[in-house]
Amino acid sequence: MISVELEKKKPFLDYTKTELAVRFKEMGIPSYRLGQIRRWIFARKTGSFSEMTDLSKDLRACLRESFSDLPEGKDSIFSGEIITTSGSPDGTQKILLELADGNRVESVLLRDDRNHRTGCISTQVGCAMGCAFCASGMDGFIRNLTRGEILEQILRINSLLPPEERLTHLVIMGTGEPTLNLEPLLSALEDATAQDGLDIGNRKITISTVGLPEGIRKMAAANVPYKLAVSLHAPNDEIRDRIIPQNRRTGIAKILEASDFYFHSSGRRTTFEYILIDDLNSRPEHARQLASLLKNRTAIVNIIPYNPVPEFSFKTPSSAVVHRFVEILEEGGIQVKVRFRKGDGINAACGQLRRSFRKNSDPDLSGKEDPDQKIL
Ligand code: SAH
Repeated sequence: MISVELEKKKPFLDYTKTELAVRFKEMGIPSYRLGQIRRWIFARKTGSFSEMTDLSKDLRACLRESFSDLPEGKDSIFSGEIITTSGSPDGTQKILLELADGNRVESVLLRDDRNHRTGCISTQVGCAMGCAFCASGMDGFIRNLTRGEILEQILRINSLLPPEERLTHLVIMGTGEPTLNLEPLLSALEDATAQDGLDIGNRKITISTVGLPEGIRKMAAANVPYKLAVSLHAPNDEIRDRIIPQNRRTGIAKILEASDFYFHSSGRRTTFEYILIDDLNSRPEHARQLASLLKNRTAIVNIIPYNPVPEFSFKTPSSAVVHRFVEILEEGGIQVKVRFRKGDGINAACGQLRRSFRKNSDPDLSGKEDPDQKIL
């Protein structure tokens, strides 16, 4: 038998609370210690074992030894490292996290005037969906994130807030297709919602999908208590096929059937996200088609003016076009919200920060600050 030491250690945040309880028992650590440790991590935003001063020095050393593969002298509950933090005047902050294997993911903190503090979290490195307007998928799919890596993003974003503040909302709208990495995501969200975790309400968490009917049904089958957002972005299959390659396989009708199913099983009304791209999907007839598609559904449409990605030639429509589109939807009895861009100047569209900090592929950009960014 190869000795246990040679195996890679499972990082601390990869364990669920229940798994940790079992592990602590095996290690002879009293169970109340788990409560102390969780208080340090979730309430006090502590990032290292050495700061947990109500644990004995021996226990702190033992935890560091047992749950982390970090080099000697490094003490962290996290396995990744923040490469850069950028902020924009509207209070949006974005981090680029380098994972243990060198891959990078981005996460965002958004604030609004209702005092919502929302974390936008990634679920995959890269994305396989290949949507024509999205920077995240440009380099394809690399791998799924682990439970610990998803939770690490949530905790890191929570730590950007002042000590007395906590995240109030989460949107799973960073890089990746969450329904293709559902189990680790749901496991991480258990800690986000637990009373002795971050205690974020179920209704304050939204999972956004490109619209995979099987994925949506899987969420319903797992009794997921969170809100569902579907990236519809088009009023008919002809347009949707052009901008979302997955649609050629699924079609809009099946996606709507699956989201109706989710609504009936969860009681949560679906949000349909609709990026307005000039001319492509933003004409009055598109608004009328969209209104008739959603007419008898308990749904809300989230209009998002396209956030320009330099590599693509799509254009953001004028505010008059946005206004007219919204008006037609409302006349059709549809509830609409317009989500304005946040984080201008910090590459806040999905995948942009990661791309501007690519390591090897473009030596000019390696490790260098993006000129548009303000590094805090
Ligand atoms: N894969 C999931 C979640 C990640 S993308 C999904 O497709 O929903 C999160 C949201 O940002 C999606 O609605 C996506 O379509 C949108 N998005 C991607 N690129 C964008 C851009 N350039 N401008 C505006 N929204 C964009």
